[in-house]
Amino acid sequence: MIKTVFFDTKDYVKTSFQKYEIPGEFEFKYFETKLTEDTADLAKGCDVVCIFVNDTVNAAVIDKLYEYGVKLIALRCAGYNNVDLRYAYGKIHAVRVPAYSPYAVAEHTAALLLTSIRRIHKAYNRTRDFNFSLSGLTGFDLHGKTVGIVGTGKIGRIFIDICRGFGMNVIAYDAFPAKDSDIAYVSLNELLERSDIISLHCPLTNETRHMINADAIAKMKKGVVILNTSRGALIDAEALLEGIKARKVGAACLDVYEEETDIFFEDRSGHILNDELLARLISMPNVIVTSHQAFLTEEALSNIAETTVNNIRSFFENDGICDNELCYRCGNIEDCKKNRRERCF
Ligand code: NAD
Repeated sequence: MIKTVFFDTKDYVKTSFQKYEIPGEFEFKYFETKLTEDTADLAKGCDVVCIFVNDTVNAAVIDKLYEYGVKLIALRCAGYNNVDLRYAYGKIHAVRVPAYSPYAVAEHTAALLLTSIRRIHKAYNRTRDFNFSLSGLTGFDLHGKTVGIVGTGKIGRIFIDICRGFGMNVIAYDAFPAKDSDIAYVSLNELLERSDIISLHCPLTNETRHMINADAIAKMKKGVVILNTSRGALIDAEALLEGIKARKVGAACLDVYEEETDIFFEDRSGHILNDELLARLISMPNVIVTSHQAFLTEEALSNIAETTVNNIRSFFENDGICDNELCYRCGNIEDCKKNRRERCF
């Protein structure tokens, strides 16, 4: 019997995992609280800790989980910047869901873009109030505009296809450009200078943190639309706010925010928001914020649950070997054990 404790559990998580709670094989314990140093004790007696994007797995949390005998951290997401993989090495293994529905995220990015530039959010509120005026709702055609895609992985490429469907001119920047693709790669500087719309689809790393800062915004076209459905800290939010106040940035659509951990995924209506920067951004007429919602489709939830359960099964049934294992050495060294179908440690 594999005992798994879930942190940051929402109703839709329980619904998607329910069918895998097979007596004799899996026992699931659900907690709404996020995993932190203070809540790690809830993992006592469990084999697996199942977490999401805003749970914290730092050195202190890893020490506690290791002491309690937890063997596996199963991320039910693709991004893993919240896990200190280097510190976990040799102690606890980590697995993730590398792809669950890149369409979900790419389509949400397109939804945000269209909503923003065609003022759908404004129109929706107006007509509900029987205000049928069109003043202030003028948008612009996407056809013929240049979109700059940063990160041409699974999500970035689907978004490229969507943009091409609109007749947009697509340019891209990637630190590891795809070979043999028809993508027009340019330098990051050229992308910043030429794009009418910039969409971020790269992971958060030390190199990409605040890649959109005051310097980057200074290079952009006046009126640029910035889309971020990747990770909040790719953008220096203060610099973005300044860019909006200076009328340099025409619009921003943010599904992620650097300081989202204690805010997103919860109903904060009726409370005073303690984040002035986020409150100011939300107050802007040309900013749309969704709370890390891009992944939230039925297909994605079902794929996340299936892959997570398969990851756990694979780990315990194959002597700790799992294709979706995360290890700080993977991809960084030549004799990567995973390539030889061996456990990372
Ligand atoms: P992916 O790994 O398939 O692609 C990432 C791409 O970024 C790769 O092509 C990689 O070469 C590139 N890259 C790496 N470092 C870079 C750098 N320094 N500069 C430019 N490009 C760089 O990942 P994906 O599945 O397409 O996901 C992209 C991101 O989307 C994830 O990192 C994750 O943070 C985010 N995401 C968000 C949600 C959401 O709900 N909002 C859901 C899933 C994923």
